[in-house]
Amino acid sequence: MTLRLGTQQDWPLNVMRLVDHAEREHGDREVVSAWADGSTSRTSWGEIARKARQMARALEKLGLGKGDRVATLAMNHERHLISWYGAIGMGGVLHTINPRLFPEQLAYIGNHAEDRVLLYDAMMKPLVDAMKPAWKTIEHYIVYDPPAGWEGDPSFEEWIGAEDDEFRWVEADERDPIGLCYTSGTTGNPKGVIYEHRGMVLHALAEVQPDCFDLGKRDCALPIVPMFHANAWGLPWAAPLVGCKLVLSADYSAKRMVDLFRDEKVTHSAGVPTIWVDMIAHIEKTGDTLDNLKTVTIGGSAAPRAMIKWFRSHGIEVGHAWGMTELSPIGSLAGKPAGWEDMSDEEQIEWTARQGRVPFGIEMRIVDDAGNVLPRDGKASGDLQVRGAWVIERYFKEDAPAIDADGWFSTGDVAALHPDGTMQITDRSKDVIKSGGEWISSIELENAAVGVDGVAEAACIGIFHPKWDERPLLVCVREEGHHVTGEEVLAGIRDQVAKWWLPDAVEFVDELPHTATGKLSKKTLREQFADYRFEGVEAMTGRD
Ligand code: AMP
Repeated sequence: MTLRLGTQQDWPLNVMRLVDHAEREHGDREVVSAWADGSTSRTSWGEIARKARQMARALEKLGLGKGDRVATLAMNHERHLISWYGAIGMGGVLHTINPRLFPEQLAYIGNHAEDRVLLYDAMMKPLVDAMKPAWKTIEHYIVYDPPAGWEGDPSFEEWIGAEDDEFRWVEADERDPIGLCYTSGTTGNPKGVIYEHRGMVLHALAEVQPDCFDLGKRDCALPIVPMFHANAWGLPWAAPLVGCKLVLSADYSAKRMVDLFRDEKVTHSAGVPTIWVDMIAHIEKTGDTLDNLKTVTIGGSAAPRAMIKWFRSHGIEVGHAWGMTELSPIGSLAGKPAGWEDMSDEEQIEWTARQGRVPFGIEMRIVDDAGNVLPRDGKASGDLQVRGAWVIERYFKEDAPAIDADGWFSTGDVAALHPDGTMQITDRSKDVIKSGGEWISSIELENAAVGVDGVAEAACIGIFHPKWDERPLLVCVREEGHHVTGEEVLAGIRDQVAKWWLPDAVEFVDELPHTATGKLSKKTLREQFADYRFEGVEAMTGRD
């Protein structure tokens, strides 16, 4: 027998080791759930692991096996967390469905994923009932929180409560699939991203580092990021790694959050700017305080300077994160660089307003239209590309790779890279609008608009909004001789798109800008409307 040269053990990077570790080393550390009905419940990492074993057994009894997709349609709470580990521990792939998608998209992704089981919150019942005929592969429905007198699908606690907790996690390779998330931040149908054990463990290891989320056992984290959107930024994987306390809330109202920050002694929180806009307004109005909070991570959209300043003036540090569903999601984070203490207040704010630096595991570059790599000089800006240990290689069920021959994934963001390694988003080349952390397809709005009598051409762009970050503005060219109005255009598209997609305003122009090849030039249009403000929305102070 030839001996291996190396003398170390094989210890596969498997996410189930995260919860095993938390059970063994931090078994009593609390996991708190704030439920939609206003109640709060407490459990521990030990219990989460134990119930995940019960759930894995229950899934096995339903006849599920390796690679089978287990879907959830739920807000953040302990039973959702148990399901993450229970589904994967059984060998399954956890598919977290975003309930904000509209019915055609929900039908598409459920069938595309070939989900076999769906676990859902009772408040989603009307949606689930409406979707049942459209979902062709789901055999079992389980409800997380049936209220008293519930008649319908079986209750989660009763379902898993019938099983013992002796289950041994199904053996898995590091590269086995564990999770599935669809992103609608692209054109066309939502695209699936499949996460793997190895990538997710490495992501969690990167995330807890001081230069990233800076999480330790002593901390208490409250992600105000849904578990159905990009792994709740990875926090349900990172928390058991360090054994910190985790607070999950199904309710994102500012008052509930502030109460939780105080009562649960939350030290770390994370959310999109829209969440913080509400919270800041609430605090300014009520005089409530954020006593224990040490750090907030803002991401999903650019963190406005005014918001960064507000948190700093309340003694709270800001981490500004950039990421994508395709990156599990963390790509970069602005924490504190060397020499932070010597920087002026303005310099620190300027630093934080950029989208930060990559952790080990991610590489970043910018390229021009011809694919030439641009310098990291803080002046050039180009298409942002990334590659790394938790970056997508190809979308689910697509043959073609999503990366180039050297592994670079084009993000659809336009950015500058500074000599100190900080990345700064300057624009977006993908044709989508991000409102309150969720995507709106400009192309679908345009297609709907040109179907309205009297509209010759239409273009939709995102306009800055102080609460939602961006809202759609529809710019139309009238057909000759037609006098179609903005109200008529909106009325004409209202039934074709989700309610929250409806543009905040319609403007008419004589002509839309086009590129040399005849394509609509959104870049020029965005420049033309750079100072545009929706009526009734006060001038924004936060962006500059
Ligand atoms: P998603 O996959 O839905 O998480 O969206 C990812 C996209 O959100 C990125 O490609 C960016 O366009 C945008 N995004 C995320 N974080 C930031 C940020 N800090 N600043 C600006 N845009 C961001």
